[in-house]
Amino acid sequence: KNYGVNELRRMFLEFFESKEHLAMKSFSLVPHNDNSLLLINSGMAPLKPYFTGQEIPPRRRVTTCQKCIRTGDIENVGKTARHGTFFEMLGNFSFGDYFKDEAIHWSWEFLTGVIGLDPDRLYPSVYLEDDEAFEIWNKKIGIAPERIFRFGKADNFWEHGAGPCGPCSEIYYDRGEKYGCGSPDCTVGCDCDRYMEVWNNVFTQFENDGHGNYEELAQKNIDTGMGLERLAVVVQDVDSIFDVDTIKALLNRVAALARTEYKKNADVDVSLRLITDHVRSCTFMISDGIMPSNEGRGYVLRRLLRRAARHGRLLGIEGKFLADLSTTVIELSKDGYPELEEKKAMILKVLTQEEDKFNKTIDQGLAILGELEEEMVKKGETILSGENAFKLYDTYGFPLDLTLEILEEKNFGVDEEGFKAAMQKQRETARNARKTTNYMGADVTVYQSIDPAITTEFIGYDKLICDSKI
Ligand code: ATP
Ligand code: MG
Ligand code: MG
Ligand code: MG
Repeated sequence: KNYGVNELRRMFLEFFESKEHLAMKSFSLVPHNDNSLLLINSGMAPLKPYFTGQEIPPRRRVTTCQKCIRTGDIENVGKTARHGTFFEMLGNFSFGDYFKDEAIHWSWEFLTGVIGLDPDRLYPSVYLEDDEAFEIWNKKIGIAPERIFRFGKADNFWEHGAGPCGPCSEIYYDRGEKYGCGSPDCTVGCDCDRYMEVWNNVFTQFENDGHGNYEELAQKNIDTGMGLERLAVVVQDVDSIFDVDTIKALLNRVAALARTEYKKNADVDVSLRLITDHVRSCTFMISDGIMPSNEGRGYVLRRLLRRAARHGRLLGIEGKFLADLSTTVIELSKDGYPELEEKKAMILKVLTQEEDKFNKTIDQGLAILGELEEEMVKKGETILSGENAFKLYDTYGFPLDLTLEILEEKNFGVDEEGFKAAMQKQRETARNARKTTNYMGADVTVYQSIDPAITTEFIGYDKLICDSKI
């Protein structure tokens, strides 16, 4: 049956409620008391205190649909069928309660029984040494041994330095040959979009002492994650996460604004999907109180927003368009996230202001970058100087990553060290100016508010990679 995204979210939560789980609301994208993570990137991340025993969970069985951001997947967005920077992760969790047997049985029951997926298209994977999980899939669920894949640590063992860790078992869905890469070796685990990873079941059963010694945990946990959009892809039998009911409606709106059609031109399609994804990310980030800035989360937001604005230009969209699209995101997702509707005015205002700011300089910036490129071609250079990249950043609001990305399309690069040096130099100049001002007895705070280089520690580039396996 062809269930919609909003329906699938409900079905999942209700299924695990019927297995005595407490359904909790999605946590904010902003981590709470957790400096190890810039943005929530899995269902498990906000529940960490329950896993470590730091806090007592409201119940030992919990289920959520968690908003997630993975900037680590940004390069994939629009290019693969299955990656967004924003997505929703469905999950069921056990804090020292049930373990492998129940987790595997229930994931199978949900996919084949409740949703009605064809069992012959599903393939589980287990960790190389996890015979227990293998036996459950084989003996109890009845999957033939050759259909169960054994993978190594990189794919099927969840570990984050010292601490609780364990093997995982993932469930893949064969979407058919037309989505394959064509390689004779293409099978489960291939990076193409044929065998799509749908669900990850993590069995936290060991404690790593940090020196590679593993001890069985007294309290074993279950932590699972399934992309809601990916589930919808296989249920609705569509090409990608951008073709499922809700997201497709948003993409159609982007195409209408750009006066173009989807699936006519490959480059146009990448831009359409990218804008669709980034508007979702930006809308949800702002609704959780993140503001565009030059550092940390605010930088991620600014980068996504400006990237979307630039791709709008590529598609020939004139004027501001992000707030318009955001209203569609809110309409389509308020079912699961009522806060979107509540914060609507604020979301639209932030988007409009930031887009305005960028629009004032984007055309000039793009023109200047074009000239710089021409000069580089003439001189036979391939690396843009750090000073020029900094000028684009400082005067035209181009985040370094955006400049990098535009140049990469032509196989050019940027002197990133030079960029950092130019940034440092400007900061020192500003600091000296502040000292002088201070000496003269002026109100320093007035000065700070007009010079972001003084108040803002620039850490965006080092902190951007916040992606990790669940
Ligand atoms: P992949 O190998 O396809 O990149 P992953 O192994 O990185 O996925 P996990 O960290 O295991 O993903 O996350 C659990 C589930 O969340 C995945 O099985 C998938 O359904 C979903 N998921 C992960 N990353 C994304 C993404 N960028 N966009 C949409 N869904 C995602
Ligand atoms: Mg991944
Ligand atoms: Mg994977
Ligand atoms: Mg995985």
